Amino acid sequence: MSTSVEFVRPHENIFEKLESLDLSFRDAVVFPNERSRFYFREFYLKKKEGVLPSLFTMEEFLSFLSGKVPTDQENSLGILMDIHPSGSFSISLAYAEKLLEFFNEIDAGMVGWDEIEWVAEYEPWKRFMDEVRKIYEEYKNRMREKEWVDKGDVYREAIKGVEKARRHFERIIFVNPLALTTAERRIIRSVPSIILLQTLVSEEDRIPGRPFHHHHRLLKYLGKEIPSFEFEARAAIEVYEGEDRHGLLSMMEHALLCAMDADIPPEKVGIILPDPSYARVISERIMERYGIKCNLTMGLPFMETPLYSFLDTIFTLVETEKDGKLRKDDLLELFSHPYFYARKDLKDRIEKVKKNLEETYIPPDAIGDSILQSEVVSVLDCVRKKRTLRELYDGLLSLITVLERELEIPPGYPHADGFNVLTRHLVRVKDTELGRFSVEQEKSFEFLREILSGLRIHKFGEPFKGVQIMGVLESRLIPFEVVVVPLMNEGYFPSPRKKELFLPDDARGRINERAGEDKLELQRHRDSTFSYFFHVWLSGAKKLYLGYVKEEKKSTPSRFVEQVTLGLYGEEVKPVKVGYEGGEIKKRERFFERRIINPDEFEFSPTRIDLYFQCPYRFYLEYVLGIREEKEEEELEGKGLGKLVHETLQRFYSEIREGPPEDGKRLFEIFEELFRRDYPVPSGRTLLRKELVKERLRMFVEEEKKRKPFKVLMLERSITTQTGRFRIKGVVDRVDEEDGRFVVIDYKTGYQVKTPLSFTPDDREDLRNGKRSVQLDTYLYLLSKRGEVDPDRTEVRFYSFRENKYLEKRFTKYGSKREVELFEGFLISVLEEIVDENNPFEPNYESNLCDSCPYAALCRRWEYV
Ligand code: SF4
Repeated sequence: MSTSVEFVRPHENIFEKLESLDLSFRDAVVFPNERSRFYFREFYLKKKEGVLPSLFTMEEFLSFLSGKVPTDQENSLGILMDIHPSGSFSISLAYAEKLLEFFNEIDAGMVGWDEIEWVAEYEPWKRFMDEVRKIYEEYKNRMREKEWVDKGDVYREAIKGVEKARRHFERIIFVNPLALTTAERRIIRSVPSIILLQTLVSEEDRIPGRPFHHHHRLLKYLGKEIPSFEFEARAAIEVYEGEDRHGLLSMMEHALLCAMDADIPPEKVGIILPDPSYARVISERIMERYGIKCNLTMGLPFMETPLYSFLDTIFTLVETEKDGKLRKDDLLELFSHPYFYARKDLKDRIEKVKKNLEETYIPPDAIGDSILQSEVVSVLDCVRKKRTLRELYDGLLSLITVLERELEIPPGYPHADGFNVLTRHLVRVKDTELGRFSVEQEKSFEFLREILSGLRIHKFGEPFKGVQIMGVLESRLIPFEVVVVPLMNEGYFPSPRKKELFLPDDARGRINERAGEDKLELQRHRDSTFSYFFHVWLSGAKKLYLGYVKEEKKSTPSRFVEQVTLGLYGEEVKPVKVGYEGGEIKKRERFFERRIINPDEFEFSPTRIDLYFQCPYRFYLEYVLGIREEKEEEELEGKGLGKLVHETLQRFYSEIREGPPEDGKRLFEIFEELFRRDYPVPSGRTLLRKELVKERLRMFVEEEKKRKPFKVLMLERSITTQTGRFRIKGVVDRVDEEDGRFVVIDYKTGYQVKTPLSFTPDDREDLRNGKRSVQLDTYLYLLSKRGEVDPDRTEVRFYSFRENKYLEKRFTKYGSKREVELFEGFLISVLEEIVDENNPFEPNYESNLCDSCPYAALCRRWEYV
């Protein structure tokens, strides 16, 4: 079977190389992980049209070959715990995890029991082997009975399925495979493949840490020659020693500023995090201070959500309970949590109760407020005295339901992400085999904290847009010009395995020696993976910033940092000391001031100005920093139907030009035509919405018929004007001439309709609380300023598709020159305020936008309310 290998240097773009292979739908491309597949897809779709080749991750490719998907790991663990109970829940679980990892590993490594037993002859642990083999066989039997497979089975089955790959694909391209298992190597050898290796392969491999070990191993296995390219460190390296993690934030800011100075696009800057717990603070800092978008691919730890801190507080309260009494300090902690304290119905009660709590331990009925008492008891009952994991998880699910109801968390609200992630986990695990097991009360919370700390909230950002923040493994294949790696400490980079292996390293070494190939991974192989990443950064990026922290448990600088400081890759590099205030980094580069609005480059629209009034901070995030989060769809605007209504009316009136229309026949024809264009295969829901829209269009025609004869003067007119140093823009839906007057019409398809200004002292407050809008005033102003209407003969009004009528007088602006002048003065003063660099963009925590605002995590509203 033909296999060819192509080498890609680390500074070359492997995606471009891949694209140059003229991919077709008869090809399959196998990526090392989900992230690189996703990035390639985005890259490819920007360049080419047509059918994509089949894109797989290695895991998916194995499932394709085997025709099997592994069952949830919790099912396998439950079966193993059943076969081999080891006392308490946590000990049984730990043992089952170790066994499962071992079984998966020997299956993936194609290691036979004879090989394990052979090595056991020489090991003190050999007496366990008989028993472990029996557990393995029993476990596999039970899995078969249930018709489940685990990861290891998928590996073994995949080897049998290579024929399927030959039938389906002409070529299978493996993109930079690194630490392959034996099964994966065999598969690659058995299918028609092209292997792209992003590497600098040196025959002698004298480079410290043997970074190209995995590539050598694969080439040898395939009987390919190992070419000898000289390794060359291309990146200019800077090393920073942070007093603590905050110090390294200063390094990161410095690196970003230098990249901006050098005009390096943000997406070419990769911040690689060996430890994900740093992710949130870094991403928020970048967005807030630099005004640069970022794409956080590794997800935010669930541990950093208010929901986790709430659960943690409850767990502690149950753990410290004594004879049914609650520890006062922990109870107060619960009361001060925003999920309790931010509730309007509880806040005053909490304040009253707090003053009367004196004893160290308090029986719930002595809390002194019946409502608070029942809230506390019901919350605790959700997690207290649960026997099985399933009962405990069911309790947590009811707790979530209660919280969601009490807090009225709308979908899309940042808190909702934590709830969704946790709910998905609880629902998935509770009905697995593991759910049947009893958990000792005293251990259950320890177990839960460990599980919850592993959950991640995947959120925001786009590939190739903004600074890319990702984990080490995810960064593979993505070409960065600047690489910033904070936390280059031993223990993070390289990191040891999290758990001790069932087979020790020396026994693994013997199995490998006897087999004549690396069937099982050794620690040095793992280290060489880290070495590989480090050397790819060194020879791929132009600039490499490495930071390590001095005051942490894992305080030793990484071995790779030491190689740099000792001058192994050029001159010796002296670490620069950095603290929170920037340390030795020059002052100019230390702080990046809030991004200022330049009036020459910024367009002010009514929507933007309204938002500024309602929440200056959100205005700043959306329009100055350009951070966009998905918004709730307005009723008719779901799936773009609102846009369709606008387009339909525009085309309709551009044809008839005069009104009122006799009927809506032509209007519906246009609507149907546009609908077919935008929704070639509409869902049932969209069809329902379509009928609703048609009905509303029909009623619109009826309303129009009631009007006096009119002439359509303008449609969808975009007007931009310069007022002093400000550019103001608006798009006017329609202007008619009716009965000697100008009628400016704005179509409203959503809920929100606000009254125009009237220049009373209340206006500003009304704008802030969202009752009024500058929209109609701005339209009138723009049209008058351009001389398109005479303000004394103009009215600006809304047509509401929700209410099926032109809205009452309150929502209509009757123009006059005086009003327009007053508005201009008001507008200029507001815009001056917006661009004033001394005017802070403060969050308005009372804003009626807050409840569905996607930025609450950034403004940290929950901490203040
Ligand atoms: S949650 Fe409220 S205060 Fe925070 S950004 Fe959104 S609208 Fe502003």
